[in-house]
Amino acid sequence: MHIRQVTGGLVAALAVTFSLMSGQATAAPAPAQDTAVAARVVTYDASGSAEFRSAVDRGAAIWNESVNAVELVPSAAGQRANIRVLADDGWPRAQTTSLGNGTVWIGRQAVIEGHNTIRISSHELGHILGLPDIKPGPCTSLMSGSTAGTSCTNAYPNAAEKSAVEGYFGGALTRKSGDAPLNTLIVD
Ligand SMILES: [Zn+2]
Repeated sequence: MHIRQVTGGLVAALAVTFSLMSGQATAAPAPAQDTAVAARVVTYDASGSAEFRSAVDRGAAIWNESVNAVELVPSAAGQRANIRVLADDGWPRAQTTSLGNGTVWIGRQAVIEGHNTIRISSHELGHILGLPDIKPGPCTSLMSGSTAGTSCTNAYPNAAEKSAVEGYFGGALTRKSGDAPLNTLIVD
């Protein structure tokens, strides 16, 4: 499906547009499930994520296992993806341009310090899915990020984090104070 590109000034308008679009923005007809939520497909391009590509794919798969309202799928070659995933030598970070759209950097600095690459990937994708950092926090929280320490390898969102994403994509798409800011670089 086509997801329009957004620039900063259009965020407010996009929020309205998206709420109108979300109802029909479905993948292939899904069998009846325990929820009435239709998955909104969000594409990601991990071709620039170098040695982290498999970790990024695993992070996306974890989100797909965890929530019903959104599905992360690799973009086709030549297709403009909703999420661009890159590798670089900085600290991991994400910039969300609108819900489900943005750029993720899998920063080697944190990997060198010992942080788990799948947790990093899942965490940064969580930002694009609307979640803010929740720090400091325990390892059971995905969005506690690096504050859970390098021994933490949990890459799964907890119940509250899953619920928030279900609400963003499956519900009225209302944002609350405390949600991940748009057009702001979130480092960590
Ligand atoms: Zn973060």
